[in-house]
Amino acid sequence: MENEPDGSEAQDAAEARPLAPITCARCGFINPADGAYCSRCSMALTLPAAVEGEKTREHTDQLMSELLADPEAEHERADQGYARRCDDRSV
Ligand SMILES: [Zn+2]
Repeated sequence: MENEPDGSEAQDAAEARPLAPITCARCGFINPADGAYCSRCSMALTLPAAVEGEKTREHTDQLMSELLADPEAEHERADQGYARRCDDRSV
């Protein structure tokens, strides 16, 4: 009795995708099928690439706001300490 694995054939079919060039929706540049981003304007050509780009931008925004928020918090703390010292001196 032979046990032929059905999975291998399905995998082959999944890998044999039609390699059609991807036309950029933004600038119309025709990119190779395996390109995730446009060679000319670097716009995301595939959904995973677009999602990844969106995530990266969100992450960068988060990092930026953290960077911007941190010195401010440090300032506030310093101001409070300074104000307290001034109060001590004036009393
Ligand atoms: Zn483009």
